Amino acid sequence: MQKDLTNNHAVKNNHYDYIISGAGCAGLSLLLRLLQSPALQEKKILVIDQDHKINNDRTWCFWEKETGFFENIVHHRWLQLQFKSENYSSQFSIEPYHYKMIRGIDLYEYAFALAKQFPNVEIKIEKVIDLHSDDHQAIVKTENNIYTTDYAFNSILFKKLTPTKNKYLLLQHFKGWMIETEKPCFDPAVATFMDFTVDQTRGTTFMYILPVSENKALVEYTMFTENILSSEEYDVELRKYILQKLKINEYKILHEEFGIIPMTNQKFVTNNGRIINIGTAGEQTKASSGFTFQFIQKQSDKVIDSLLKNKWPIQSKGFNEKKFRFYDSVLLNILVNKKMSGAKIFARIFQNSSSEAILKFLDNESDLLDDLEIIYSLPIKKFFIAAVQEISK
Ligand SMILES: Cc1cc2nc3c(=O)[nH]c(=O)nc-3n(C[C@H](O)[C@H](O)[C@H](O)COP(=O)(O)OP(=O)(O)OC[C@H]3O[C@@H](n4cnc5c(N)ncnc54)[C@H](O)[C@@H]3O)c2cc1C
Repeated sequence: MQKDLTNNHAVKNNHYDYIISGAGCAGLSLLLRLLQSPALQEKKILVIDQDHKINNDRTWCFWEKETGFFENIVHHRWLQLQFKSENYSSQFSIEPYHYKMIRGIDLYEYAFALAKQFPNVEIKIEKVIDLHSDDHQAIVKTENNIYTTDYAFNSILFKKLTPTKNKYLLLQHFKGWMIETEKPCFDPAVATFMDFTVDQTRGTTFMYILPVSENKALVEYTMFTENILSSEEYDVELRKYILQKLKINEYKILHEEFGIIPMTNQKFVTNNGRIINIGTAGEQTKASSGFTFQFIQKQSDKVIDSLLKNKWPIQSKGFNEKKFRFYDSVLLNILVNKKMSGAKIFARIFQNSSSEAILKFLDNESDLLDDLEIIYSLPIKKFFIAAVQEISK
């Protein structure tokens, strides 16, 4: 017979105000905000991850106008971006925005160093195998332990996403190399946001170049397709681009990163009782672009705001969120059904819209006027038909 968990002394000691399940971008962004909030920083908090988080496993880029929450760990920033395609290329200022880069390892170290100063925060390296909730608490099971909490903030995606009826699922997959050259080869003031002048026959494909000095840059081969490539295929494309387009013969690979980001309009379970899903698991990845970092920051701010007001930390979707989910579905409709290539769509947008309207639009921050600027840059008939198809689903 199963023990009554609430009468079990061991389990009572294992009760926390908050459990953060998954110590990646979303978990640690929330932890940092909890620890910086005088009213919440003394709460009993447990952070669980199966990984020690000691590798620089990803690089985040995002844009913002103001001095941001992570300003002291920004690794590099750019005020100029480049866009390249067969039909249209440009270099443009993004001011008042700054395009910022944060290295995964810097965020992990920063968050764990702060957590160490708080005796009320425990960090455990364990594999979470299940979360469930009753009216009073959430129960988090790991391979070796059971913990209970008032709220579990979970960023673990337990199930692999699979295609579902009437919904789109593309994968944004990429491999990046941080390369170092002997001679100066890059302009550290300009990042290449998208270079579509590469083979497009397998689907939307572009290179992303982030120079951090005159002789160091992260070069990423990125695709939006249904299936990923073999590791060697990314290597072939990276080598080819570096040699043929960047005209670099000799370089060292300092660091490598690989990622798969789901681009989907499938609905996620964002909360279940006292379990609140955050990050990608909490639907914070923008379906049409894969950008997630800033959405995670906004979600963390909202959670903290609710906790401070003693409110349930669950956000219902407002009109704005629904509007952008609809735009994302329309774009996925066009891409998945190959009605227009990603290269052409982005070329039209970059050619005909201001950088400010584009960045606001990609951040789900644009107003109706900005939206119209973007919409009018696109072939109206194609997008109108896709929009009608999405509305009638
Ligand atoms: C290589 C890469 C680069 C990216 N670059 C950008 C970018 O430039 N801009 C942007 O906006 N977005 C970017 N993204 C997308 C997104 O921002 C990141 O994926 C981000 O890390 C998502 O945060 P998260 O907390 O949801 O997930 P994660 O950061 O992946 O955190 C989930 C955590 O859960 C842990 N975990 C998983 N399973 C278990 C388990 N069973 N038990 C215990 N722990 C578990 C993992 O170890 C991990 O620490 C990138 C993604 C990748 C992969």
